[in-house]
Amino acid sequence: MSVSKRAAGIAESLTLAITAKANKMKAEGIPVVGFGAGEPDFNTPDYIIAAAKEGLDKGITKYTASGGMPKLKEAICNKLKADNGLMYSPAQIVVSNGAKHSLHNACQAIIDDGDEVIIPAPYWLTYPELVLLAGGVPVYVGCGENNGFKMTPAQLKAAITPKTKALILNSPSNPTGAVYTPAELAELGKAIEEAGIWVISDEIYEKLIYGGATHVSIASLSQKLYERTITVNGLSKSYSMTGWRIGYLAAPLAVAKAIDNMQSHTTSNANSIAQYASIAALSGGKDFLDKLVGTFDGRRKYMVGRINKMPFASALTPEGAFYVMMNVSKVFGKSYNGKAINSAQDFAEVLLEAALSAVVPGEAFGANDYLRLSYAISIEDITRGLDAIEEVLKKIK
Ligand code: PLP
Repeated sequence: MSVSKRAAGIAESLTLAITAKANKMKAEGIPVVGFGAGEPDFNTPDYIIAAAKEGLDKGITKYTASGGMPKLKEAICNKLKADNGLMYSPAQIVVSNGAKHSLHNACQAIIDDGDEVIIPAPYWLTYPELVLLAGGVPVYVGCGENNGFKMTPAQLKAAITPKTKALILNSPSNPTGAVYTPAELAELGKAIEEAGIWVISDEIYEKLIYGGATHVSIASLSQKLYERTITVNGLSKSYSMTGWRIGYLAAPLAVAKAIDNMQSHTTSNANSIAQYASIAALSGGKDFLDKLVGTFDGRRKYMVGRINKMPFASALTPEGAFYVMMNVSKVFGKSYNGKAINSAQDFAEVLLEAALSAVVPGEAFGANDYLRLSYAISIEDITRGLDAIEEVLKKIK
């Protein structure tokens, strides 16, 4: 017996694999620093927890409409209007089990077998797998440090073929923290309009943004872009609600309707209590967010400053999300304690053993010269981990 070709074609999540290994070491009593963290190290704010308890007491424990509670969809429409200048009706919104599920739904709704989907690299490792699951063909566009890990309009145009169906855009980006400026997005937008392709715009990190960077939803730039964009967002990161599993998408009506139909036959509605609490979440959270962003900003600066003082290492300053890409290509071809290092994966293994630091090797993101370090962990852990990583780097020969 073998699994289907579709299932066999899907890779294990490398980030989860590293976390699992680090967790195993921790369970054995080894004090590993988990730089792989993909979620804020903050509890969900109390007012959201109180709303969930209220939901339980009120008996909000039954099926809801498959695409989401009307009140939640309304709150999402209000959010998209206020924060992003986007006008959607509730029928254009589908609430799902996290933004990841919304992205899956979006891919299933627009990709046919053999369709090409452009994915700027470095990319979040789930995108290629979602495209493959939908029968599509990922087409990678390498975006280097020279342009802040961002895709240029010329690169996008060069990647577009008659088979191109969509572009997956992620700003602010996981893993690079890159944020497209409004002007850059407008230029990409022109190429997208010309080619008549779809955009799946993953805006899950929109509120985790630092310095002078601003977030703009590509769908807000023109009517044509609005008509070809599926905007994806969720509550996981901005409200520290990763475990609650609430994400959503906003799309042209026909696409939203198709997705609602699919979801009604697959997962049905997202958890009713989490939906109920999400209505409250969207009505507040500014103080929480200010604290989250302020804390992350301090850690971000500290981490980048430290890395850029280490031998064989460097890092650009990310403008969003909570990850730093550490360029370690200068250690390739060298060795640590006699162990040859020829890839980011090799070096990540060395760091787990010798620096007790779990980092994610860039191969997972189509970025072979890098390690991804999350700063969604305490400053004490960051400091301890970076101290140890620096010691390893000093012994590289
Ligand atoms: N999109 C990106 C870029 C992410 O990094 C993540 C989570 O790590 C998600 C989407 C998924 O978020 P959710 O927890 O809402 O499924």
